[in-house]
Amino acid sequence: MAEEKQIWLSSPHMSGYEREMVEEAFDTNWIAPVGPHINAFEEELAQYLGHGKVAVLSSGTAAIHLALIMLGVKRGDEVLVSSLTFSGSANPVVYQGATPVFVDSEKDTWNMDPQLLEATIKDRLKKGKKSKAIILVHLYGMPAKMDELMDIAAKYEIPVVEDAAESLGSLHKDRRTGTFGDISVLSFNGNKVITTSGGGALVSANEAYVNLAKKLSTQARDDAPHYQHSMIGYNYRMSNVLAGIGRGQLKVLEQRVNERRKINQFYRELLGNYDFINFLNEPEGHFSNYWLTTILMRDKENSQKPRETLRTELAKHKIECRPLWKPMHLQPVFKNAPAYTNGTAEELFNVGLCLPSGTNMTDDDLERIKTRMQEVLSVL
Ligand SMILES: *Cc1c(COP(=O)(O)O)cnc(C)c1O
Repeated sequence: MAEEKQIWLSSPHMSGYEREMVEEAFDTNWIAPVGPHINAFEEELAQYLGHGKVAVLSSGTAAIHLALIMLGVKRGDEVLVSSLTFSGSANPVVYQGATPVFVDSEKDTWNMDPQLLEATIKDRLKKGKKSKAIILVHLYGMPAKMDELMDIAAKYEIPVVEDAAESLGSLHKDRRTGTFGDISVLSFNGNKVITTSGGGALVSANEAYVNLAKKLSTQARDDAPHYQHSMIGYNYRMSNVLAGIGRGQLKVLEQRVNERRKINQFYRELLGNYDFINFLNEPEGHFSNYWLTTILMRDKENSQKPRETLRTELAKHKIECRPLWKPMHLQPVFKNAPAYTNGTAEELFNVGLCLPSGTNMTDDDLERIKTRMQEVLSVL
């Protein structure tokens, strides 16, 4: 029997356009963190979002870091962060010497709970701490409850960093995610809905932030013939070669979102009839790119058992699944950070599973997933 090929959770899916763009970069020798693809990619992203200006960077994490610097987050400050997220959302808070204060999720979108956010802000104020920023995330592509969250941020005058790393192509009431924050962040890491291998972007309606991001990400050079610096800079700019890949990817973004949503539909048809399996559904006005399809698998004790059985059995057949993000407030590295919890993130982590969602999966791959899943589930 032929060896089974590995099916990944989400792997890069090139369109073919990228190669021309990269070749152009080689032909013109713009093999640098400066060049025409960078400017063009920024303009095309702003056009796609229909909002603001864009600075493309070396990663989404770098974009969050620069966002916090520009919002004046310093040593001793506090920043409110969704607990259920990837560590890249929270680490930059610590780069600034500040403390993340984690806020748990609500059940409808799995994102930051607006009620708990307000309770947290009030409690921190009572303790004499006004948070410097709120980092919100749209997990697995599902937009957060932006109306409520943005109202609370405005009420307490706390700027929002919108982590849209997983949600490019998602909409909240016909408005694209990545356009809500005072500063918004995109990621083009290899596993995201479109990729530049590694990369990110900072987006803002405030052009001053975007210009400053471009300056800070290229070592904060002053306007002088020699190298002069009045600020500490970073080497966070995107390479022109990678911006070329990004331009090729952006051409097929809408198509990729449609394909991800079709994969989500495939799993709903396959698994919808098992009463111990639940999906995350789109609340009214929320349109998800379904970057990853996720399910919850519950037994009577709410244990990890059914989820782990499915995950490990599929792994034996080279089908990669993964538990949901482990909440930040349960991470060893953040054990001393304050956390305001309601049990939702922890429960989701216990019973949640991310399913293979890459758009480059073939019909044969999907058929293999179907057969193997049915085998495992028939004995669960
Ligand atoms: C991927 C990701 C990031 C970080 O992006 P990188 O480009 O990998 O640095 C941040 N937040 C979330 C929620 C992510 O999924």
